[in-house]
Amino acid sequence: MSKIILTGDRPTGRLHVGHYVGSLKRRVELQNSGEYDDIFIMIADAQALTDNADNPEKVRQNIIEVALDYLACGLDPEKSTLLIQSQIPELCELSFYYMNLVTVSRLQRNPTVKSEIQMRNFEASIPVGFFTYPISQAADITAFKATTVPVGEDQLPMLEQTKEIVRKFNSVYGDTLVEPEILLPKNQACLRLPGTDGKAKMSKSLNNCIYLSDSADEVKKKVMSMFTDPNHLKVSDPGRVEGNPVFTYLDAFCQEHHFEEFLPEYANLDELKAHYTRGGLGDVKVKRFLNEVIQQELEPIRTRRKEFAKDIPAIYDILRKGSEKAEEVAARTLAEVKASMKINYFDDEELIRSQSERFR
Ligand code: ATP
Ligand code: MG
Repeated sequence: MSKIILTGDRPTGRLHVGHYVGSLKRRVELQNSGEYDDIFIMIADAQALTDNADNPEKVRQNIIEVALDYLACGLDPEKSTLLIQSQIPELCELSFYYMNLVTVSRLQRNPTVKSEIQMRNFEASIPVGFFTYPISQAADITAFKATTVPVGEDQLPMLEQTKEIVRKFNSVYGDTLVEPEILLPKNQACLRLPGTDGKAKMSKSLNNCIYLSDSADEVKKKVMSMFTDPNHLKVSDPGRVEGNPVFTYLDAFCQEHHFEEFLPEYANLDELKAHYTRGGLGDVKVKRFLNEVIQQELEPIRTRRKEFAKDIPAIYDILRKGSEKAEEVAARTLAEVKASMKINYFDDEELIRSQSERFR
């Protein structure tokens, strides 16, 4: 069986370091591993519109920002197909048929959607499109027969939902769709990177992000004003590393060579953590180190982004070509789906023959 990747992002803002450690970095590694037959990277504009219906301009503007972030991080249009979701109408058709295989109560149980509804204060005014986006995500994944979906932890319920739809579809209509596997980050800290404010998730919608395209000054300012342990008031106070986002970011980004380079009095992160926990290590020193580590990772991304931004029409061209290729693949899957559901009336000679006999 072919090995196929599908993953993507909502164009609701520029991409941040949470996306980078949660999914983007891994995608580039998988792309360059040469182990995959096809890789589809989707800019999910239609999904972004489910909670931004009154602000289509925001979505429109951010498509190019996300594409620039992709290219800057090393996604290569020669190896990965970059596409825009709304340009593949087959995805809507698939969603429409999958909707019949999912109950309202099943959607209501989705913990990620539940917390997103709360975060957006939707309460009684949840747009139907937003409520059903896990179904449209199942359409995205299955349209490309994806076997592997590299994403952050918040996507686990979506993958569960997709698997249920695949099983239900295949059991009702016969084997057609492929069950995908989620690929979570190996590093615990990257599963769901917290915000600079200490909130559980760095998210474009929460204004607590370090963006891949932030300038060196902006990154430094954000790192230096990060939330830490609120009880660590004096340098001599013992501090907590658990739930302290500065240390979570270090868990996500830092390697031993960073100590040699920027903080040689410690051999590794365990030593630094032990000192902080014991007391006697100030937040400013740790933050300065974190700043160096993040800057080193982001600097080449920032430079490449500026290069790519010099030719914006070329980027739209990449997205157009990618969307065209993606549509061909999705159209083949949709044809199979319709054949399995026996709603391919005009291609079904047996149907036409038996109906003729019935009326003879
Ligand atoms: P929005 O607030 O618009 O939902 P978002 O910041 O949650 O934006 P998405 O486009 O929804 O970003 O997510 C894209 C991908 O990035 C998903 O695979 C998601 O799991 C991953 N991701 C997003 N935020 C984080 C994070 N803080 N840590 C790890 N992975 C993340
Ligand atoms: Mg999200």
